[in-house]
Amino acid sequence: MKAIISHDLDHITVWEHLFRDTIIPKYMARMHVELLSGKISLREYTLRWSDFFKNKWQNVDELITFNNINGVPTSFFVAVNKGVGLNYSNEAAMLWIEQMQSRRCEIAVHGIEFDNAGLMLNEYQLFEKLTGQQNFGIRMHYVRNTEKTYQLLAETGYTYDSTEHAYKNPYKIGEMWEFPFQIMDGWIIENYKSWQSLNLEQAKINTIKLIDKAHEHQLQYLGIDFHDRYFSHSFKTWLDWYMWLVDYLKCQKIEFINFNSAIKELESAQA
Ligand SMILES: [Zn+2]
Repeated sequence: MKAIISHDLDHITVWEHLFRDTIIPKYMARMHVELLSGKISLREYTLRWSDFFKNKWQNVDELITFNNINGVPTSFFVAVNKGVGLNYSNEAAMLWIEQMQSRRCEIAVHGIEFDNAGLMLNEYQLFEKLTGQQNFGIRMHYVRNTEKTYQLLAETGYTYDSTEHAYKNPYKIGEMWEFPFQIMDGWIIENYKSWQSLNLEQAKINTIKLIDKAHEHQLQYLGIDFHDRYFSHSFKTWLDWYMWLVDYLKCQKIEFINFNSAIKELESAQA
């Protein structure tokens, strides 16, 4: 089994949310619940205010550097459309896309449209135009989907999708590869609440169970979704969890690979 780690860019700044959505009040409520329930330290709480005033809610550069040092190829999903608490502009996204391109990351769409073929095609074409890329994949923001989403994504022309959460090997829908993923940072650390509900040790135990389950299902690829936003000392449990996870996979002799290289492997095995 190899691991495919990818990152969804959900936020860039605090200001992009001002008067547009409910992310800022939710952020405030969450940090107070987490402080009062003892899940975060006073230092983390203070750093969250500091991020807020610095207007910095992304950690793209820091995360790419950590990945590079650890031999993890960096794969990002970046949005070119707004919706469901995602509100950065194309101009803001482009600054980071250029940085990701210069640092040789794999870049794909963080999709907003999930059930309208015309709007999905607009999103695809806008990403193609902005990035100058030809073949690329997608993961839906909040993994939104209906029973027809996957077929529509394949018809739109995506090379791959990684929206489905399942213990299944990659499979083809038309010409598109579907890469189901198994581990998402928020599902582990929040454990189905709206705030951090597990500590690091509990998160590690649950993660190991999921990796074991992936082995039991004889998965070729273990899909992991980690948001760059949490690669920060203001989210210390998340940061520590990610660094532990990369180290754990290395100790287990699990290699890291990105989506495009995995597709090459899959297609050469088929040929
Ligand atoms: Zn997202």
